Amino acid sequence: MPAADPTPAGVWVAIVPLLSRWIGGTEFKQLPNLRLVANCAVGYNNVDLVAAQLRDVVVTNTPDVLTAATADLTWALILAGARRVLEGVDLIRAGTWTGWHPTQLLGLELHDRILGLLGAGRIGQAVGRRGVAFGMRVRYASRSPKQEFERETGAERVELGALLKESDVLSLHVPATPETRGLIGSETLAQMKPGAILINTARGDLIREEALAAALDRGHLGAAGLDVYADEPRIHPRLLAAPRTVLLPHIGSATVDTRRRMAAVALANVRAVLAGQPPLTPVYR
Ligand code: NAP
Repeated sequence: MPAADPTPAGVWVAIVPLLSRWIGGTEFKQLPNLRLVANCAVGYNNVDLVAAQLRDVVVTNTPDVLTAATADLTWALILAGARRVLEGVDLIRAGTWTGWHPTQLLGLELHDRILGLLGAGRIGQAVGRRGVAFGMRVRYASRSPKQEFERETGAERVELGALLKESDVLSLHVPATPETRGLIGSETLAQMKPGAILINTARGDLIREEALAAALDRGHLGAAGLDVYADEPRIHPRLLAAPRTVLLPHIGSATVDTRRRMAAVALANVRAVLAGQPPLTPVYR
């Protein structure tokens, strides 16, 4: 059902919302028998967890099954931003390409550069592993150390300030929470290395979009690759007009296999909870 349609009210005991559907106090009130919200996404910032817990409603998500697809798409954005792929496509499509030129569309060489991960959970780590294959050196900032990841990739854990200052490519992989909202704003953008590339396949709320557009306009950043936005499906007009952007319509997990697996995990949670068993992937215990 489209996100604009109201959430059904009534006797339902379980619902499987998409991430574009807000489930909060009003929805819980109109679903008095509800026992489970089986969110069909790994992120669950579309569900009011406090309201759910107050009503003893279980909330589940779909972790792991979308990690590879989302990490791959993150790399599509990194490569497109670093190598100015869209500008190249535009040149061809406009019929204005006049032939090979030694200084045409020069981009950022990734080999031996620093890939910074803000958040090194499932997707952040998968992006880091791919980075090693591209010859990048990996740094990450996260709440807890990831020793296995460090052993596997040579990644180094640093403070946020150092991550901003040192990263040639900074990729965001933390969930949208009250602590992470607006984390990338004018102050943090100013700390980023001139010419660095910012990638966001996590959630739009992490970035102050007007500040990002201003940093791109000033030429401080080399590029921004975004899959997610603060007010989807609306894109901030200044971002739409800003140079050196690669803007995708929230398709991080959009492969046939992954979408099938996400639906299967959501339905397995419904079956388990309605059969009186523990949920497979609860977001809180
Ligand atoms: P995850 O495994 O839970 O990883 C999240 C990481 O963020 C964890 O390492 C966590 O640290 C860290 N973190 C949480 N709050 C933090 C904070 N305040 N400061 C620093 N680090 C913090 O989740 P995931 O599976 O990788 O997914 C990450 C996000 O990607 C999801 O929340 C979702 O919003 C987004 N996503 C987007 C798409 C898309 O279509 N574009 C697809 C899938 C997922 P600890 O390990 O220390 O707890």
